[in-house]
Amino acid sequence: MKAIQIRKPNDLRVIDMEKPVTDEKNNVLVKIKAAGICGSDVGIYHGTNAVASYPRVIGHEMVGEVVELRSGTGKLKPGDRVIIDQVINCGHCYACRHNRGNVCQNLQVRGVHVDGGYREYMAVPEKDCYLLPECLSYEDAVMIEPTTIAIQFCSRAELTAEDTLLIYGVGVLGSSILRIARLSGAKIIVTDLVEEKLQRALQNGADFAINGAKENLGERLKEITEDGYGPTVSVDAACTKNSLATLLDVTGNAGRVITMGFSNAPTEVTQMKITTKELDVRGSRLQNKKFQEAIDLIEQGKLDLNGAVSHRFKFTDAQKAFDFVDTKDPSIRKIVLTFD
Ligand code: MN
Ligand code: ZN
Repeated sequence: MKAIQIRKPNDLRVIDMEKPVTDEKNNVLVKIKAAGICGSDVGIYHGTNAVASYPRVIGHEMVGEVVELRSGTGKLKPGDRVIIDQVINCGHCYACRHNRGNVCQNLQVRGVHVDGGYREYMAVPEKDCYLLPECLSYEDAVMIEPTTIAIQFCSRAELTAEDTLLIYGVGVLGSSILRIARLSGAKIIVTDLVEEKLQRALQNGADFAINGAKENLGERLKEITEDGYGPTVSVDAACTKNSLATLLDVTGNAGRVITMGFSNAPTEVTQMKITTKELDVRGSRLQNKKFQEAIDLIEQGKLDLNGAVSHRFKFTDAQKAFDFVDTKDPSIRKIVLTFD
């Protein structure tokens, strides 16, 4: 079968690899139908993702059809349409024992530490497969994974209707967060440097948009939050050189600052802001068994992922797709690789 492998940074190959076979543990064979391109896949391609190892078949937003079951529990049958959880954890370390398997000490992420979804078949445990909602095409269903990342953020931030949330950067990740965070009833402020993204965010339910290229973020936040308090939760969905320091600056007392970036580049922050405001600075990584929650939201009609995909490429044209990502074309929302 064919697969897309990043042999080393900036070296993408279409390779032939052996079709996986099921065993006791990986008891379900899935024929991959669509796989999303995520910022972290681009990071692995360019060598800027500090946790990835090479060579690697990348891709962690993968959906497909069950074609074979070895010893299922009855949850799945051949022909079922599924999305595959990317997280593999050990089950016995401190994090796992405290129900935080997404940060397992022995964590293996499909498409990062072990081979992922840019290939024609995958053998995975049945427990890692979730049935897709009827109403979603395979292509749109890849968006369930970014949704779970946003759900994880909301859970790490303990976001409630009482909060004012600042989303710093409203690209693909920030937009996913916006879509889920608005269900909490929190007031939502977005900031970005690109006007087009801000306008789209306003259409998608953001209450305020601040263009960081034209306006002073700190001053605007004082103006638009009650008593100039600032946001009570902020999320770094941009991970730029000064983003963390900025968020420590503008987030209100007793607030939460959530990081989601994977950059290894040093950034300068001072303890003063964290201590005097008693900020909670928390990471939000991947997702912790959030697939069913995302699927439930879709089935309850609270979340519509139809039409979220902006571009499609055949998976053997992955090089073209990644080159297109590098153009940073503003029309890019979600790019999906197709397998049929
Ligand atoms: Mn992703
Ligand atoms: Zn563990």
